[in-house]
Amino acid sequence: MNVPPISRRQFLAAVAGLVGVAAATRASTATKAPITTTTPASSATTSTTRIPSTTTTMPQPAGTIATAVGVVQAICRSAWGEREPSGPMTSHTIDRMTVHHTASLLEGNQMAPALARVHENRHMVDRGWVDLAYHFLVDANGNVYEGRPVTAVGDTMTDYDPTGHFLVCAEGDFNNQAIPAAQVSAVADVLAWGAVHFEVDPSTIQGHRDWATTSCPGDNFYSLISEGNLEQAVRDRIAAGAPGLSILCGDAAEQRVADIEAGLA
Ligand SMILES: [Zn+2]
Repeated sequence: MNVPPISRRQFLAAVAGLVGVAAATRASTATKAPITTTTPASSATTSTTRIPSTTTTMPQPAGTIATAVGVVQAICRSAWGEREPSGPMTSHTIDRMTVHHTASLLEGNQMAPALARVHENRHMVDRGWVDLAYHFLVDANGNVYEGRPVTAVGDTMTDYDPTGHFLVCAEGDFNNQAIPAAQVSAVADVLAWGAVHFEVDPSTIQGHRDWATTSCPGDNFYSLISEGNLEQAVRDRIAAGAPGLSILCGDAAEQRVADIEAGLA
């Protein structure tokens, strides 16, 4: 609550560090960023030493962001507990990218998977939508959760039509808490993948409030959008070779969720 939002300097430093790492570790520059689904053995997740995060809503040092391999690993919907869509969805062609927050205060990132299930329940049960409203969720530590299929139009309670919008939602209430650098960077990674995959320009990145009467995605996040920092971060990633996107499934995905809930990821 009383943590200041990351400054422009901190944000740019985080971005610069990320791009440097990504560029150095990428053997070749792909022109297209496909979605791949991987189910690595669970033992693959145990090779690194994990240090429990303490106050997980605090901004994280830039070096902790897990994008060094140049692939965004989105946790498979079944692994975080999302049910299958409840009915047919409307397909669309993505031509812009829109950023949201959940408006739920994230007191500790260990709660992120449970909160994702709360949102899904609210959307599918309370509102009667066929699926989570968003295509991807991103938590405070930069973990990415697979949501509604990107081929399907999202949903909204507000007065705009999300047809054509790639919807990326950051877990948290950024009118009332700071947004961690790791979370911003992961959102930028997902958007950079989306920009290349859907062939849309980063200049289309906007906040929900640019489209409808809402404070979403919160003042502390929106400032990074309105001042162009997020767009620039996405452009920098694309220039360095945009990240691919892998849907992490099976034991490895379940282990990741367990690690998040234990404060280890
Ligand atoms: Zn929104």
